[in-house]
Amino acid sequence: GDDGVPGRVRVAVRLRPRNAEEMVADADFADCVEVQPELKRLKLRKNNWDSDTYEFDEVLTEFASQKRVYEVVAKPVVESVLDGYNGTVMAYGQTGTGKTFTVGHLGDGDTASRGIMVRAMEDILADVAPETDSVSVSYLQLYMEAIQDLLDPTNDNISIVEDPKTGDVSLPGATLLEIRDQQSFVELLSIGEAHRIAANTKLNTESSRSHAILMSKLVLVDLAGSERVHKSGSEGHMLEEAKSINLSLSALGKCINALAENCAHVPVRDSKLTRLLKDSFGGTARTSLIVTIGPSPRHRGETASTIQFGQRAM
Ligand code: ADP
Ligand code: MG
Repeated sequence: GDDGVPGRVRVAVRLRPRNAEEMVADADFADCVEVQPELKRLKLRKNNWDSDTYEFDEVLTEFASQKRVYEVVAKPVVESVLDGYNGTVMAYGQTGTGKTFTVGHLGDGDTASRGIMVRAMEDILADVAPETDSVSVSYLQLYMEAIQDLLDPTNDNISIVEDPKTGDVSLPGATLLEIRDQQSFVELLSIGEAHRIAANTKLNTESSRSHAILMSKLVLVDLAGSERVHKSGSEGHMLEEAKSINLSLSALGKCINALAENCAHVPVRDSKLTRLLKDSFGGTARTSLIVTIGPSPRHRGETASTIQFGQRAM
């Protein structure tokens, strides 16, 4: 719980609607969760007669609009960034539960479906005087502990530099684009996405296996899928990939838990992801975590572990 205190993580859970396949295949089965948005509660079904109840800062149902999600999860963070603080919004959850839809959806031709990145930039641009000011933006992918520039695919091993005096994190190798209008921002996101697909084809992986990070004063993160890859079923490259994702997500979890518990020490050094997000864990930073879940009873186990990740962050 946040209660407006900087340094605490606000945690929202968002349930996506059943998709067409789930409507048919799981027609005879109840959803694995039940949401009670007014109570900010979510019930995870244990069996036909019993469930566990969890409370979050916000509970967003399958009917929550993109606009509402933005307003609840991201807008307070954007506003504090406009007041000069560091702000971060992250989406965590199993592949297919709506992280990219929530954070990165462009909504070409359907403005109502636009995600957090586009809406946040709109608010930021409205605040900076267009003639004199611009917003510097980098767009990165973090895969197997390597940081790649999504705005310059030749640049695939960016290092993190920390100011020895202030401790501030910078990425001297990363492309910084000066954004002055919404159209050039949407172009930047499209180019980044195209490069992401090309890079991942080359690396023989899927976009769900990497973290996408948009950095300005505001940091927006579409995390790699949190699903457990079964060690028995994967080997070689897949196994290394799974280990790397587990490493970064568990390091992230530890940092967020340290914040939640008011620990003096936040262990940011354990992964590239947490080193990159170091400024998000500082005393005056504002961080929102949105955990995305699906309703399918088949994924109850993954849904349970996603919910628990969110609970530990509060
Ligand atoms: P992830 O990034 O977590 O793997 P996606 O964002 O790609 O998941 O979502 C998987 C699919 O579900 C996409 O087709 C997406 O458009 C759809 N989807 C996700 N969340 C919602 C939602 N709240 N409403 C409607 N469709 C959604
Ligand atoms: Mg995705």
